[in-house]
Amino acid sequence: MNTLIRNGTVVTARTTARADVLLEGAVIKEVRAGIPEAAAAKVIDAAGMYVIPGGIDVHTHLDMPFGGTTSADDFETGTRAAAFGGTTSIVDFAIQARGTRMRDALDTWWKKAEGRACIDYGLHMIVTDLGTSGLEDMDELVNEGVASFKLFMAYPNVLMVDDATIFKALSQTAKNGALICMHAENGSVIDVIIAQALAEGKTAPIYHALTRPPGAEAEAVHRAIALAEIAGAPVYIVHLSSEDALNQVREARDRGVPAFAETCPQYLLLSIEELERPDFEGAKYVFTPPLRPKHHLPKLWDGLKQDHLQVVSTDHCPFCFEDQKILGKDDFTKIPNGGPGIENRLQLMYHYGVNAGNLSLNRFVELTSTTPARIFGMYPKKGEIAAGSDADLVIWDPGAVYTITSKTHHMRVDYSMFEGYQVRGNARTVISRGEVIVDGGEFLGKPGRGQYLKRAARGGAWK
Ligand SMILES: [Zn+2]
Repeated sequence: MNTLIRNGTVVTARTTARADVLLEGAVIKEVRAGIPEAAAAKVIDAAGMYVIPGGIDVHTHLDMPFGGTTSADDFETGTRAAAFGGTTSIVDFAIQARGTRMRDALDTWWKKAEGRACIDYGLHMIVTDLGTSGLEDMDELVNEGVASFKLFMAYPNVLMVDDATIFKALSQTAKNGALICMHAENGSVIDVIIAQALAEGKTAPIYHALTRPPGAEAEAVHRAIALAEIAGAPVYIVHLSSEDALNQVREARDRGVPAFAETCPQYLLLSIEELERPDFEGAKYVFTPPLRPKHHLPKLWDGLKQDHLQVVSTDHCPFCFEDQKILGKDDFTKIPNGGPGIENRLQLMYHYGVNAGNLSLNRFVELTSTTPARIFGMYPKKGEIAAGSDADLVIWDPGAVYTITSKTHHMRVDYSMFEGYQVRGNARTVISRGEVIVDGGEFLGKPGRGQYLKRAARGGAWK
């Protein structure tokens, strides 16, 4: 069935223009002004609205085991919440358990998503152990559309890998065209600082932030980029949180090094004081890297404006306050690390980015959809409004006023990091592969309709 979206303003990473968009089944057939209504069986009026590519969140953790519990959203509830917020594709993380094959983890995560996902999903692979066959396993995964691997420089004895492993993995991507994503914090040093804090009886949530200084992030970012340079591969820094770390990325990019980085709304909008909330509520803001002092925030906005940062993702990893965060009541190291955000990314970036004059409309689209698609091997199928691209579109109402609150949000978690924030601009109609899945605050899709995204190696980071 053909669908025509009429009278809207089509916004891409490059252009803003009044145009109609004709959808044929799951793909976009034509984009131009003046497409006749007779061309389609169904017509959607988008007068006064922006038509933007569906959001792409390349950093989510649905149904993820962590510290004896599991993130509160599974692939059904998490992707439905994403859809409400205008996100039509995610890339989640499968985790290789030490001593097992990456292939097993891929199968496990496919099972988690199958029959549940409401929007399309890709997977990165978190590598914890190269073993004897890890490098060939990476090649095999690239053939399965896993075009990116994440390595941890933090969490010793759990996820952290040593520099030799990082270098071997980077060198393998120099051959197979995948992209290494790095959690860049010096975990060994942080563990020493944590042990000191605990020995001094410092157990409250705020010490989560105080034991992970920006210098530990900047050191790891510097090392990650240096190792990537030696290996001749690009590198992508996940959830960059501080000015110190940003300076390392900028310095490398200024020299022409293919270093890339994302940040998240929480690092742009919240600061370390949140962890001092009374009654243990600071635990709601415990995630890594931690929130930073306020002076870092405008530096990160500058980074987005000047393209030192290329992507805004969420690192959505929700744990309920009442029965999960509470595990760390007497010891901040036992608080499950993570916060909810998958639903609110576009609202927050539009309001505090576009409305506040920090970002152009086109840059907003670029950061939340087009560049993530490019870097992670989904472009131009995703992240674009053009003939032949998937019909993943959001009809965005720039005048809609919306108050973010856990009382009405769709994430399966009992709090919001942005409780009471009022934003102007919200998704009215969300279309995934030609199907209207959200309209006027109502979910019309169904679980299991989301498809696995086989992503291509040698994406935008390699150009
Ligand atoms: Zn993460």
